[in-house]
Amino acid sequence: MIAKVVVDVAVDREFDYRVPDELAGTVKVGSRVTVSFGPRRTQGYVVGLAEASDRAALKAIEGVIGVRPYIDEALLKLARWMGEYYCAPVELAVQSVLPGAVRQHKAKFKEQLFVRLALPVAVGVDRGPLEDLRAKAPKQAAALDVLIAQSESGLFLHELARRSGADQAAVRALETKGLVVIEKQAELRNPLLHLEVLPTQPLALMPQQAAALEVVKQSIDTRQPPVILLHGVTGSGKTEVYLQGIAHALERGCGAIVLVPEIALTPQTIERFRGRFGDTIAVLHSALSDGERHDEWHRIWDGRARIAIGARSAVFAPVHDLGLIVVDEEHEPTYKQDEAPRYNARDVAVMRGAMQGCAVLLGSATPALESIHNARTGKYRLVEMLHRVDHRSMPVMRIVDMRIEAERTGKAAVFSRELVEAVRRRLERAEQVMLFLNRRGFATSLQCPKCGFVAQCDQCSVAYTYHRVGESLKCHICGDSKAVPACCPGCQDPAFKLAGLGTQRVEIATARVFPGARVTRMDADATTGKDAHRRILGEFKSGKIDILVGTQMIAKGLHFPNVTLIGVLNADLSLSMPDFRAGERTFQLLTQVAGRAGRGEVPGEVIVQTFSPFHAAIQAARRLDYAGFCDQEFEFRKELMYPPFGHLVCVGLRGPDETRVAAAASALAGRLKPALSADVILAEPSAAPLARAKGQYRYQVLLRASRTKAMTGPLKIVLREMKWPAGVSFSVDVDALQMM
Ligand code: ADP
Ligand code: ZN
Repeated sequence: MIAKVVVDVAVDREFDYRVPDELAGTVKVGSRVTVSFGPRRTQGYVVGLAEASDRAALKAIEGVIGVRPYIDEALLKLARWMGEYYCAPVELAVQSVLPGAVRQHKAKFKEQLFVRLALPVAVGVDRGPLEDLRAKAPKQAAALDVLIAQSESGLFLHELARRSGADQAAVRALETKGLVVIEKQAELRNPLLHLEVLPTQPLALMPQQAAALEVVKQSIDTRQPPVILLHGVTGSGKTEVYLQGIAHALERGCGAIVLVPEIALTPQTIERFRGRFGDTIAVLHSALSDGERHDEWHRIWDGRARIAIGARSAVFAPVHDLGLIVVDEEHEPTYKQDEAPRYNARDVAVMRGAMQGCAVLLGSATPALESIHNARTGKYRLVEMLHRVDHRSMPVMRIVDMRIEAERTGKAAVFSRELVEAVRRRLERAEQVMLFLNRRGFATSLQCPKCGFVAQCDQCSVAYTYHRVGESLKCHICGDSKAVPACCPGCQDPAFKLAGLGTQRVEIATARVFPGARVTRMDADATTGKDAHRRILGEFKSGKIDILVGTQMIAKGLHFPNVTLIGVLNADLSLSMPDFRAGERTFQLLTQVAGRAGRGEVPGEVIVQTFSPFHAAIQAARRLDYAGFCDQEFEFRKELMYPPFGHLVCVGLRGPDETRVAAAASALAGRLKPALSADVILAEPSAAPLARAKGQYRYQVLLRASRTKAMTGPLKIVLREMKWPAGVSFSVDVDALQMM
């Protein structure tokens, strides 16, 4: 018997090994094995078994790690598809389906001492010694009482100690007397242990929800269903459809996966699922410790948890009999992994669904243009929920032209007059306000208001980010930081110091303009403390904060009935991104933000400050016109064969020597040109918008075509044969979402 093995060393190939007789029954597809590879010993995964090999004199597999393979055949198949499609080395693709904590066998189950009665309670504990103990050793008696009350099972020693007040010595004494047994048992680290959640019941559905749920149910019951795209406006009750869809899968004996963007994986979100399904929910996300992730993964793997909820990588959760995969906010660019394999978890979900015959439900208020295109062309089944629950009206969006504002005051202001008045009105009525500032890194650069000088990092071609705390300038690419100069290096004007428009500055400006208002900031800096996120939201919800200032962190999935006004301070920043999706991102962002306002009794209002008030994306967002926005975008995308009308592959090249990087880019393009068929568009190689990062120059070669294979096929061959100049490295991004 021959095993095909993908070794951990990066070589992008499978190798044949002989399965020795003594391991014949043990080596399975998915097994983790040790093999010798060249001069060293390494580990790998068995990805296939065969009767024979083309090669003679094969080395034998040396050993198998673990009893059961951790990757089943279906996941392996998915991993290999991923490596192929995304042009990633197969070993990286296989590795990425298992969390590091599980794969490296670093984290183990945590063994703890577990105490139980030596004899079952039913047999009857001899009361004599117990009464004796009460007098002589009250602690031992107390421990015994707790155990008896606990009846059949038993308790972990630390729990027993906590409940009875007995220490370890007392329990050991009981063991010596033969009254209890102490043994080691795996105790699961449950990240949700201290979260008290009130159970919830399924809600009676609105007609639009009932109709959507019906499609989801049918889809679960069919084995090869089409992907469902649920286009539901914010507040239309998508989550309830997810919950009841999952309940249906469970009834059918199936498990489910729920993907949410990392930033939305908040306690609030998890509580909604825990409240309905309790302990059968396992959570997988990056904030867990290795130990927690290890245990959560194993709870899914051995079937104690039937529903996995998590960010990107949860798409690989080893849920058995998978019946449904939900991808919430399917348009989110964060579903794309930014290192090899550069997969998009939404698209992997669609593929996994097709391979395993399970239902896939993509949900969004602003579906990605790729997804809506798939729906319009009949590849996906479109389900719409166009009304808010209880038919509350959507907030009114007003656009404020900041050019006029700047002309009037002679300088760039944080707040327009309209916004100030609107906030005042809310404060008078004891309603709440959210002030939304775009993207930290782009929003807070320091530009001299006199001469326009922008402080830039020497190593990366990006502006420094201004941090009020410590008066420092920080590069968000390489992490370099330095003090803010006292005056502008260009023109020596001291006003330079005050020029950054960051959340911190907005917070201070807000406090100044609205004295007496309780203002709090929420962004990545303010929420580094473990529970800060939860605490701030809790205080906002209970009305202890009047104005919440924040980044996109406050734009996602939150529900605050008393928020009646949202101010978007600088809508332009996402518009000015050097990316053909800038309009789409801006539209999504504004729609998302608007969805946070007016979720209670009082209708909401959104005020958007911008320097380009007539931009199509901003106008479409104001009119709540998703379809109109799509039509318009489609027109120019079609013309240029941009997604969704073509696939896009971005080959990035980088290195410390710009001449070499540029030469490598031209050489690559030169070799590609004759290798590609006529239907592939190859753009001239060019410097990336982020032309330098961490001291590395960055170039890119872009390809577009209607089929990915037409590009990746020739590309793989050319990349393998290319002779790269020293110090130049490359990466391939298939279906790239960010071309910075
Ligand atoms: P979406 O995710 O589509 O923006 P949510 O799922 O957050 O919307 O729902 C918005 C609010 O409406 C939530 O507070 C939810 O509990 C409530 N809700 C959803 N469906 C119903 C229903 N059928 N009856 C009553 N309330 C509902
Ligand atoms: Zn830098």
